[in-house]
Amino acid sequence: MPVTAAATAAPAPAPADFEALRRQDPRIAEVILGETARQAEGLQLIAAENFTSPAVLAALGSPLANKYAEGYPGARHHGGCELVDAAERIAVERVKDLFGAEHANVQPHSGSSAVLAAYAALLRPGDTVLAMGLAYGGHLTHGSPSNFSGRWFDFVGYGVDAESGLINYDEVDALAHRDRPKAIVCGSISYPRHPDYAVFREIADEVGACLIADAAHPIGLVAGGAAPSPVPYADVVCATTHKVLRGPRGGMILCGADLAERIDRAVFPFSQGGAQMHTIAAKAVAFGEAATPAFGEYAHQVVANARVLADALAAEGLEVLTGGTDTHLIGVDPAPLGVDGRSARGRLAAAGLVLDTCALPYGDGRGIRLGTAAVTTQGMGEAEMGRIATLFAKAVRDGAEEGGELIGKVRAEVRELAGRFPPYPG
Ligand SMILES: *Cc1c(COP(=O)(O)O)cnc(C)c1O
Repeated sequence: MPVTAAATAAPAPAPADFEALRRQDPRIAEVILGETARQAEGLQLIAAENFTSPAVLAALGSPLANKYAEGYPGARHHGGCELVDAAERIAVERVKDLFGAEHANVQPHSGSSAVLAAYAALLRPGDTVLAMGLAYGGHLTHGSPSNFSGRWFDFVGYGVDAESGLINYDEVDALAHRDRPKAIVCGSISYPRHPDYAVFREIADEVGACLIADAAHPIGLVAGGAAPSPVPYADVVCATTHKVLRGPRGGMILCGADLAERIDRAVFPFSQGGAQMHTIAAKAVAFGEAATPAFGEYAHQVVANARVLADALAAEGLEVLTGGTDTHLIGVDPAPLGVDGRSARGRLAAAGLVLDTCALPYGDGRGIRLGTAAVTTQGMGEAEMGRIATLFAKAVRDGAEEGGELIGKVRAEVRELAGRFPPYPG
């Protein structure tokens, strides 16, 4: 049974519009149909993905996409913005209420743009920033040499304990005192536990650093009351709207009233031009959905499912990083099944289980990162998580060959399971 009302509504795009697209551009129509089918026929276990509601898709595909709107509501550089201004004001009010934030900026085009704006508001090029090292689950924007962050700032990375996989706060504290960063970033692409925001705040205060929470992953759980909120602790919270939060692809920033103006100017005009008003309207829709009791149930089910899936994968012999999860995220090392993360990902993809590799806290092999946000939106529950673990282990165990007979069998079972939980029934 689907967890949310949204998941039971009719699929988008509207059939009439789609027929027009198909006539005009059959090649692109074919890609969209194929991708829609691919998403429905496999198990989407990429921890950063989800299925937005038809209402969100409708806002995204609306003529608001035509509107230029540089600036902020009531202060735009273009005429005719009265109606899109209303959409942005609604989005801002809803997200402030949802997270109890004094100020919100809903314009960042992505999570990375939100982080760029946060750095621009708080730092100068050459400043030192302490963040989780990329080898342990830090994001590109946490100092990758191939990203603006690594080029413009001096990043110092904290890690996780090789044994427990947990953040070692003594190490964070020691690095902060040694390098005196201007900012400390907490948040990761794969850490399955809650950061201790209070401890991060304390360390930041001791060394006079500001605290940036990059909560792209857990923010949807926070919205649903299934994870602690960074809002009371961090100076600035950056997030995406498209992960567990289940909105359109995009970013957002929450902060106190004291930083409101600096954050707004760091987004526009410093790092972005015109706001994407169709996406902002879709964000408003998603924030409205996230404020419902059904979304709270969803967020708690996401975590319950992840716990069951982590336990079931451990029972299949996989090494579960940190010994479990508090979130939608699970990290596993498939080595005990005789395969590394990279080839496991290939075999799993061939079987229709779509997921990512991730850093391992030890050695230089790769693990597997998976998440339960999308399958939970489809209405899957704890029984299905056990089934997914069985299919996962079958696909990677015993030297199964990509495209081999066994993979084909698993693929058929995956298709049957997914087929019972259509993301867009109707
Ligand atoms: C996903 C993510 C981002 C970036 O989001 P994009 O929308 O892909 O730019 C940034 N930081 C963290 C921790 C993330 O998980």
